Amino acid sequence: MVAIMTKLDMRKLITTILLSLGSLVAFASGPAARAQTPAGWKAHDMNRARPEMVTSSVRLPVAAPSDAVVLFDGSDVSQWRSEDGGPAKWIVKDGYMESVRGSGYVFSRPAFGDVQLHVEWAAPVPAEGIGQGRGNSGVFLMGLYEVQVLDSYDNITYADGQAAALYGQYPPLANASRPPGEWQSYDIVFRRPRFQRDGGLEKPARISVLHNGILVQDNVEIWGPTSWLQHRPYESHPDRLPLSLQDHGNPVRYRNIWVRELPEWTSPGPSDDATQPVITLAPDVLDRYTGEYVDGQNRRFVIRREGFRMYAQIFSRPNLELLVHSKQEFGMRWTAGRLVFDLNADGEPLGVKLLVGRAEFPARKVN
Ligand code: MG
Repeated sequence: MVAIMTKLDMRKLITTILLSLGSLVAFASGPAARAQTPAGWKAHDMNRARPEMVTSSVRLPVAAPSDAVVLFDGSDVSQWRSEDGGPAKWIVKDGYMESVRGSGYVFSRPAFGDVQLHVEWAAPVPAEGIGQGRGNSGVFLMGLYEVQVLDSYDNITYADGQAAALYGQYPPLANASRPPGEWQSYDIVFRRPRFQRDGGLEKPARISVLHNGILVQDNVEIWGPTSWLQHRPYESHPDRLPLSLQDHGNPVRYRNIWVRELPEWTSPGPSDDATQPVITLAPDVLDRYTGEYVDGQNRRFVIRREGFRMYAQIFSRPNLELLVHSKQEFGMRWTAGRLVFDLNADGEPLGVKLLVGRAEFPARKVN
């Protein structure tokens, strides 16, 4: 008998094959599946290596520089508020503020984007609890990205959750923890994420952290807001948001908190209008400029031509490409320097003056 498959039978067969292939793939990738995080580790994996202890010699407090915004100088919490907008409920005593169990996170009244942040903190004495339950607090950049505060002096927890970890993402490069009760510092350089107009991510946030003066986070790329258990992708948010400090139920102390706002990564260069036009001169005209020039200290400029391109060697720095702006003035392609020529009535250079910064270097043509 010849089996004739109907269209329906065919579809069933194909569906069966696809389903079994699917389960094969699922089985193959199931138990041995690699974590899909950028680090290759799932969050909070106890097998992830914990860094070595390093003893720091940094002396605290570190006084705020002149351009810093001081968020806490030990006197009051006026620069901080509770989540509901009311006054911060943490206690202030003897120049520090202390997290009060159940009082909630505190938020800075000013909002920040890119910052350099200095925070000093101390874990409670006597040390109580274990793992994440010992001296837990946190410094949240923009209220979203946590640099973990934890008593990690003699306390094992998952590497991405110990002191100075970018919580759930990056363990610190070293464990620079001091014993509970001793003051410790974080110096944080944070670049906020950039979002496109439609809300998509243009550039993830980046962070560097020094713990007690030891580099522990080296300009790492943050994957998204930090969270316990949960992987949270970026969601568009304002360019400035308050910093926050975590109430995790432990009486962690803070003092000497100051922040410097950072300028944007790069400032745009001058517009095209502000740059001088480049002109083309015939090779025989360009050749008038080539040759040697000598300054008052017998140092040499050498100008040479390659096709339509001009190059200078100035004080032994070779191959500086020149842009011809006029018969009298050549610029440098990569440097804000100018060569201004002294021309005779026939347009022959008698000498040249290099202008760079606020300095002038006159030289006369010798051949
Ligand atoms: Mg925490």
